[in-house]
Amino acid sequence: MDKKMQTVLPKKKKNTLKLKFETTRSYAPALESTSAANIKPQYDLFINGKFEAPLSKKYFPTINPSNEEKLSEVAEANAADVDKAVKAATNAYEKVWKKMAAKERGKYIFRIARIIQEKARELAIIETLDGGKPIRESRDFDIPAAANHFFYYAGWADKLDYAFPNKRTESIGVAGQIIPWNFPLLMAAWKIAPALATGNTVVLKPAETTPLTALKLAEIIQEADLPPGVVNIITGGGATGVALVNHPEIKKIAFTGSTEVGKIILQTTAGTNKKLTLELGGKAANIIFEDAPLDEAVEGVINGIFFNQGQVCCAGSRLYVQESVAHTVIQKLKDRLESLIVGNPLDKNTDIGAINSRQQLQTIQKYLKIGKQEGAELYESPCALPKKGFWCRPTLFTNVAQSNRIAQEEIFGPVLAILTFRTDDEVIEKANNSPYGLSAGVWTDKGSKIFNMSKRLKAGVIWANTFNKFDPTSPFGGFKESGFGREGGLHGLLPYVNLINS
Ligand code: NAD
Repeated sequence: MDKKMQTVLPKKKKNTLKLKFETTRSYAPALESTSAANIKPQYDLFINGKFEAPLSKKYFPTINPSNEEKLSEVAEANAADVDKAVKAATNAYEKVWKKMAAKERGKYIFRIARIIQEKARELAIIETLDGGKPIRESRDFDIPAAANHFFYYAGWADKLDYAFPNKRTESIGVAGQIIPWNFPLLMAAWKIAPALATGNTVVLKPAETTPLTALKLAEIIQEADLPPGVVNIITGGGATGVALVNHPEIKKIAFTGSTEVGKIILQTTAGTNKKLTLELGGKAANIIFEDAPLDEAVEGVINGIFFNQGQVCCAGSRLYVQESVAHTVIQKLKDRLESLIVGNPLDKNTDIGAINSRQQLQTIQKYLKIGKQEGAELYESPCALPKKGFWCRPTLFTNVAQSNRIAQEEIFGPVLAILTFRTDDEVIEKANNSPYGLSAGVWTDKGSKIFNMSKRLKAGVIWANTFNKFDPTSPFGGFKESGFGREGGLHGLLPYVNLINS
């Protein structure tokens, strides 16, 4: 070929630009004002449409985990209080809710969604104050997602005949719903919205460390004029949960929380005719193949484990990275780790907020020790931590063995265990070698690999080239010790109905 005709390409320059994130980013604080948050000094139990003093006569404090200051005190329901709430729910079920036209039920649920939207700012601030999560997360994820769940299920209320073709649905009665502290309002929405849409009534118990947005939801429910007793919200700790699970008039238990408590509930409800769904712990494998867009993958891994301080059941807490790119990926992760901003959750710059409670912080610290004792190499961000409150630096472990406890057990904190692999078969075997099976992530350039992996990974949700994405129309739930039953989507209606052949 004539030399002149050849395509002339610019000479390849040596890449002298080293991509390293700044390690000492500092921004002027952008604090969200708390003036929109109306928190009462004391909250009673929400039973039969009213706030009522507990028969127990007991209250307990709820604190801000970022500074340990008391925010309010809330009632502690005992067995008699639980009984009162269940009786109110039974009465509302028999006399009002199950008889109401489905279209009318849908309107109430829709109204709740609209009021959540109207009060989004206040709810986001309270979620952040009570739970410790960054305001960006409560504002952009938790509260909009909670409203969306109510909107979505409002739409199903009068379309149940289309949800299950050739079947007729029948509501089941009073649902006892118990939720954890990591997504307080969102978990309440996941539980309440499908129960109401299918014609059931509810007694919900939020977690003892994050009761405030559930109590604000009680105020919203009052404002929406929902008939009294259709939703009852009772606060308390484990003993309140036990009383709810054991109540003979409860027809269905929906529990989200630890695998340990899930197993107890499974034993308690065995032999009864209570329906049960369990959304439990996880130890998600996030898998990076050598052909993945590495910068995007690193960002996805960071989001997967540090979102909500790693206090997410589906957090990508195990990273499997293909050996050929392990060195590059680990370096990029370390660089990115150093740029994460840890601090005041009300600051809009904050990436990582406070750990939800002293107890949870102690659990995380126990695992940091265990990891070091097991011979793994710990790398943590050198960032300074606030003096008061419960804080943990974003941390990663390299040199982790598959059998290490930090690779097998749920830590529920901002701690990533990194392992390597060479082949597809090897990573499948390692990723599935876990008592859990809630979620997983795959990062690759090849669509065929995504299909192959998602077919063979034992996880309820598998994200491809993304992580931690949720939608009310998608079912969510696990395999193995991550529980059973699905929430969200069409599948989320099923646990709340009996299907009759039509
Ligand atoms: P937890 O099990 O300690 O508590 C969850 C809820 O159960 C709380 O409201 C608590 O008061 C109540 N409870 C405690 N003991 C009880 C008992 N014996 N009977 C009935 N209720 C009882 O869990 P947690 O520490 O609040 O939450 C963290 C756990 O939740 C993690 O394991 C996480 O993976 C899991 N989680 C799972 C999902 C999911 O969708 N699979 C979502 C969020 C959290």
